[in-house]
Amino acid sequence: MTDLNMFSLEGRTALVTGANTGLGQGICVAYAKAGANVVGVARRSCQETADKISAFQGSFREILADLSDISVIPRIVEEAQKAFGRVDILVNNAGIIKRCDAVDVTEEDWDAVIDVNEKMVFFLCRAFAEKWIADQKGGKIINIASMLSYQGGIRVPAYTSSKSAVIGLTRALANEWAGHNINVNGIAPGYMETNNTQNLRSDGQRSEEILSRIPAGRWGTPEDVAGAAIFLASDAAAYIHGFTLAVDGGWLAR
Ligand code: NAD
Repeated sequence: MTDLNMFSLEGRTALVTGANTGLGQGICVAYAKAGANVVGVARRSCQETADKISAFQGSFREILADLSDISVIPRIVEEAQKAFGRVDILVNNAGIIKRCDAVDVTEEDWDAVIDVNEKMVFFLCRAFAEKWIADQKGGKIINIASMLSYQGGIRVPAYTSSKSAVIGLTRALANEWAGHNINVNGIAPGYMETNNTQNLRSDGQRSEEILSRIPAGRWGTPEDVAGAAIFLASDAAAYIHGFTLAVDGGWLAR
């Protein structure tokens, strides 16, 4: 019989960025339910996430940090270590989107999106992998990609560039680190009900276009990402490297 303990995160510590809301909050709650100690990193208070986790006596600490500048990384690594000791799982979830015609994109907006969605992802991966390679105990990285890692999207050129880079980076780092027992994988959410899609969902026509193209017939929720996030962080995914799993209600199959 299969040992379902391979899906357990008991005794592990997970660090999740963008933990105060949306998919990041959903992943924090899922990890805590799976037995992990969770460190949530966010610009704003994670009180709501903390409350959801304390409701079942889960274990959660927050680190406040603005992830638009990589100079915050040493403090994040240090505070996480102080909270629960060794971090075993890193989820790069924080991300921003700016919608505008390509001809109107400013350098400032371009850099803002690339800094959080791409540059920070690489340097956080590097910061933890460096430790994991040194102590030879391995680790798990899950990068949050997007449907726009595969498609061009409409009026979001910087976001599409950054999320396409996330898939490439996930493969590149998996190649380098798989031999160190570090699994680098991704999750590509479809169209989910979070702040990220608030503008799309309140635009009647775009909302209708999107919904009619989702085979599952509904927008996704943070809870829909829980299973994939736990699986990729668990021993069950030990031989999975460099793969990005779509959680998209069938969008890519269409
Ligand atoms: P969201 O806007 O609700 O959450 C984004 C999170 O990123 C928030 O916690 C926010 O505080 C954090 N963040 C952004 N900039 C930050 C900064 N400078 N410093 C610290 N934290 C920062 O949206 P979401 O849908 O939950 O997004 C989570 C991830 O999922 C993002 O990477 C997003 O691109 C991706 N994604 C979302 C969807 C969707 O349909 N909602 C689809 C595909 C991918």
